Amino acid sequence: MPIRQLSETMINQIAAGEVIERPASVVKELVENALDAGASRVEIVTVGGGLNLIRVSDDGSGIPEKELALAIARHCTSKLADDIHDIRSLGFRGEALPSIGSVARLSIRSRTTSSENAAEIGIDGGRVSAVRPAAANRGTTVEVRDLFFATPARLKFMKGERAESSAIGDVVKRIAIAFPAVRFTLAGPDRSTLELPATEDGPEGRLRRVAQVMGADFPDNAIAIDAMRDGVHLVGHVSVPSFTRANALQQYAYVNGRPVRDKLIAGAIRGAFADVLPRDRHAVTVLFLTLDPAIVDVNVHPAKADVRFRDPGLVRGLIVGAIREALANAGIRAATTGAAGMMAAFRPGAASYAHGGPANGHRSYEAAYRASGFSGFDPARSPQRPLDMGDGFGEDEQAAFDAGPLHSADARAGQNEAAETLLGTALGAARAQVHENYIVAQTRDSLVIVDQHAAHERLVYEALKNALHSRAVPSQMLLLPEIVDLSEEDAERLAIHSETLARFGLGIERFGPGAVAVRETPSMLGETNVQQLVRDLADEIADNDTVDTLKERLDKIAATMACHGSVRSGRLLKPEEMNALLRQMEATPGSGTCNHGRPTYIELKLADIERLFGRR
Ligand code: ADP
Ligand code: MG
Repeated sequence: MPIRQLSETMINQIAAGEVIERPASVVKELVENALDAGASRVEIVTVGGGLNLIRVSDDGSGIPEKELALAIARHCTSKLADDIHDIRSLGFRGEALPSIGSVARLSIRSRTTSSENAAEIGIDGGRVSAVRPAAANRGTTVEVRDLFFATPARLKFMKGERAESSAIGDVVKRIAIAFPAVRFTLAGPDRSTLELPATEDGPEGRLRRVAQVMGADFPDNAIAIDAMRDGVHLVGHVSVPSFTRANALQQYAYVNGRPVRDKLIAGAIRGAFADVLPRDRHAVTVLFLTLDPAIVDVNVHPAKADVRFRDPGLVRGLIVGAIREALANAGIRAATTGAAGMMAAFRPGAASYAHGGPANGHRSYEAAYRASGFSGFDPARSPQRPLDMGDGFGEDEQAAFDAGPLHSADARAGQNEAAETLLGTALGAARAQVHENYIVAQTRDSLVIVDQHAAHERLVYEALKNALHSRAVPSQMLLLPEIVDLSEEDAERLAIHSETLARFGLGIERFGPGAVAVRETPSMLGETNVQQLVRDLADEIADNDTVDTLKERLDKIAATMACHGSVRSGRLLKPEEMNALLRQMEATPGSGTCNHGRPTYIELKLADIERLFGRR
């Protein structure tokens, strides 16, 4: 085939492939245009997850009638004079409208302040209609119908109405945080209405907007950030370390007012919190960076969500330093040190299992599950009440327990004999529980310390996974259904996955706007904090919707549930319970590490102990 120039429509469709990935990208582009036009009100309506209709109306400057045709022509913009290094608007590439018009039916109706009348233009799969007069107030209304009708291949990749409409909600919230003085509404038959009344510019208004978007409890749990380095200004809020989420979706970052998803910023946040947060928890953050437009490149990708800093080290250092300092000032110790020398002598448990421990994997999961005699560890059935059940459980029982394994070696000869055989096992005989979470056990030649919470979590996880493969997970009815209040998006996500959750024994259903009712929980979890479980699952699903293989999703859900069913640290265990836990660990492949990759136990060889005491 000879070389030919592509048609205008083809060129626009190719561009659309990058700029317009899904309905939420259209909403993003149209809202950006409204904000660039100085709007103080932006109204968004969607139908069918935005695939049938997206309508964005604003009260901004409007487009003069004679420029309407240009607005939908490629590479036409009113925002970039002649310096690509001085971008102060959200748009600048002049390709959103023509791209949308090449893959959908687009109409623009607009009226400027100085004009008496409005005018309208349409573009339908690339075919432009003549400008005609119309009736409208000041401002602009853009309608996009039948998105991707002209590129059916793209249509096939859409995730369904609910997922697309919730992605649109996320986009609107993300951008609304950067424009607190603008009133946003998002409505349609495919969603419950989101209304964000205007607050004001500046830190206070911004925090009020953040609270509108993220929930009223964020400001109470947030620390203000305000730092400056070499002309780069960082302001915003981060949550205190006790206020975390199971994913990083609630981390919002803005560069010169533009919402960005940036690996460098995300990494800096992770680094700043590394010492105070477990690896599987994420802070909630809203950070605004302001810097000379010349030292940041926003023209990295057509969607304009990526940025490149001229001095990445400076930006990272600023973020890490500012957050750490704020955390320290808020009275949270940022780091723990010490005992490193001694720790060096400890062997991570996972390693020794790998070298011929008892569970090197040739037993089937099923057998391991049966052998683990799991019910013995069901916290609900355990004769010992959990600590938080309160009265009566106190020092007497603690004393009786302490007297057991520590002092009765001679008194209870029968047990002694049993203990003797236990010494030959990999994890040994339980001797004591210390700090209400660590089981100290003794083998023939070592001392083993087990993190009971982490270990139990792993065992529940493995058992849940196995139970799933063989049969439905047994559930228990709650006496009263528990109502959990969530964001509408989260409630919807859970409703979408209610069938999957039912396989795990979690009976959940919609309960009005922004809420779900939980009627059944997996018996395996025993008494569990239903509210927190449901919130974490919503986070997990939101995170995982992009990954999306059923098996992965099931495993993730199992992991999240396991976390809730575990023997929490703080629960006192009887000697038999401790030994049962050790035996289950030995019988369960993979139990040497918890679900988050940390070791569930460490082993200190007698030889090393002797070395520590200078005996060798
Ligand atoms: P860009 O935003 O990169 O300039 P677009 O294709 O999104 O490119 O828009 C093209 C032009 O149309 C803009 O530069 C602007 O002049 C005009 N325009 C688009 N939407 C609006 C709006 N809501 N209000 C006023 N002008 C608009
Ligand atoms: Mg634009």
